[in-house]
Amino acid sequence: MGGVGCGRVGARTVREDCYVLSAGRVTRGVPGGPGVYRGALLWGDGEPHSPDLDLLAVGYELTAHGSFSANLLLAYEGVEGPVCYVVPTIGMPLPRGGRHWYFLCPLVPGDGSGRPCHRRADRLYLPEGGTYFGCRRCRNLTYASSNGRRKHPDPLMIRMLAADAAVPAVVASQWLAEQG
Ligand SMILES: [Zn+2]
Repeated sequence: MGGVGCGRVGARTVREDCYVLSAGRVTRGVPGGPGVYRGALLWGDGEPHSPDLDLLAVGYELTAHGSFSANLLLAYEGVEGPVCYVVPTIGMPLPRGGRHWYFLCPLVPGDGSGRPCHRRADRLYLPEGGTYFGCRRCRNLTYASSNGRRKHPDPLMIRMLAADAAVPAVVASQWLAEQG
């Protein structure tokens, strides 16, 4: 386990203690047009740039509906069992052709609105000990709303609250049903 949690009071996300999912990485080599692309990502266990993280293997399936719209299905073993959910992914056209892919944050923040965040993000973060990938903003806000004033609470509790307060808008079973 790493030292400092992602949701530490008054601190920005500490990247070394988060699994970081990059839109550029999962869309690398994906040509334009519809298609399904599968892969796997591995963190921890001596992988570069993640020396303090526990081992995490994430399988993904990117379903591109066209050149500018895709859904990324993520599947991995979360702290409380297997999780599988959908991250909407969009391609923004670049001036010289091609596109830059972004995730739309899949989490429904624990603010009572019931609406998915859908903030555009190059990267999504999963705090070590957490369950779902979400945007940086969601993580910080989730922590702040869960804990109120800054009181130096227990780092483990911070991580648990941050992980549990926000859930993905679309879990895999829903999505697969919609696809027919
Ligand atoms: Zn978010």
